[in-house]
Amino acid sequence: MFFKLEKCRICNSTHLEKYLSLGSLPLANNLVELNKTDNDLFFPLEVVLCKKCFLSQLSIVVEPEILFSDYAYRTSISSTFQKHFASMAEDIKKIFPHTENSLVVDIASNDGCMLHEFKKQGFNVLGVDPAVNLAKIAEEKGIPTLVEFWNESIAEKITELQGKAKVVAASNVFAHVHDVHSFLKGVKKVLDKDGVFITEFPYALHLIEKTEFDTIYHEHLSYFLVKPLITLFESEGLEIFDIHETPIHGGSLRIFSKHKEDNLIKTKKEVIDSFIEKEKQKKLYDLETYFDFAEKTLEIKIAFLQLLSDLKKQKKKIAGFGAAAKASTLLNYCGIGTNYIEFIADDAETKQHKAFAGNRVPILPSKEIENSKPDFLVLFAWTIAKELIEKTINHKSKGGKYIVPLPYPKIVKDQTEL
Ligand SMILES: [Zn+2]
Repeated sequence: MFFKLEKCRICNSTHLEKYLSLGSLPLANNLVELNKTDNDLFFPLEVVLCKKCFLSQLSIVVEPEILFSDYAYRTSISSTFQKHFASMAEDIKKIFPHTENSLVVDIASNDGCMLHEFKKQGFNVLGVDPAVNLAKIAEEKGIPTLVEFWNESIAEKITELQGKAKVVAASNVFAHVHDVHSFLKGVKKVLDKDGVFITEFPYALHLIEKTEFDTIYHEHLSYFLVKPLITLFESEGLEIFDIHETPIHGGSLRIFSKHKEDNLIKTKKEVIDSFIEKEKQKKLYDLETYFDFAEKTLEIKIAFLQLLSDLKKQKKKIAGFGAAAKASTLLNYCGIGTNYIEFIADDAETKQHKAFAGNRVPILPSKEIENSKPDFLVLFAWTIAKELIEKTINHKSKGGKYIVPLPYPKIVKDQTEL
């Protein structure tokens, strides 16, 4: 069901140093039926650092079939994501103004949210995603989708049937992949000679700097800095030519790469060097920084528990808003269940009337906030706190307050206090 990581997935070094343990936690995205009393599955959630290339990675790998075959996370639910992908499609149109007959392949295409934006710009699109439920939603929206995990043979199949791709995109999947070398070999195979591969993932610099430990869960195997990534791409014949920062997931990187042999696109060396310089300045190539991060994580846990416990003593009613995977990590790591949080409201129908494994806090439709009138709403998807406060305007207008758990637990009454 899972295996222990023996060596670094980028450089094969066996010098792995464990710096964070969040305990034995259930899978964050596999929701359980409310009334079923099945034994939830728990797996160790620990992060190790490769002392040679500085890749942070989980100490174990849970089999992807367990994690991704029926995925509850739908990208389109958040308007933040829709805007984000629209901007990506526009970025790409600047590189390839002639979109007719240009193929865009999206790896882990989820419900087709990103490809929908590329289709609007006139590209031919094809999604690849292993989740049957999400692929069905994408197909209904007119986004052709192969129900598969990404690998080299899928890349060959696409090349045979539809030719090479001008654009290969992989948003929020690369960090979920164990065999990153094979993943990139597949990209290299399907990518046209002047094509662009874009990948996005949360930037480990923010994870460490802002103590965003709630982005750690079993799906998320690697926590990338730019330096180890360059080593990895180079080893597979790809060159990173530009990097943009985006606010998604508390601060992500959008990495643009191309075939090493492609001389048409110019590499922005000064941009790439500036990221490495910043990583050096922040002491991210220094093991001590990671032990400090672990210490801060523990401090936040204690502060969050203290805050909830104080409110409970005052007989306050607390609910959550936004059943993101990070809520599962936060609650299960802190040992918080219905003792503190009565329910979590979420607009995604696929999550409603289910519960996170472990803590078993029920996920209910947003109208439950109107019915049970909690005094406080914990904003688990705190990186989009502003959007969430706007969505729960009735709670606010009735004097309800919010708890933002990270970067440090605090109570706010509206957007101005974020
Ligand atoms: Zn390494």
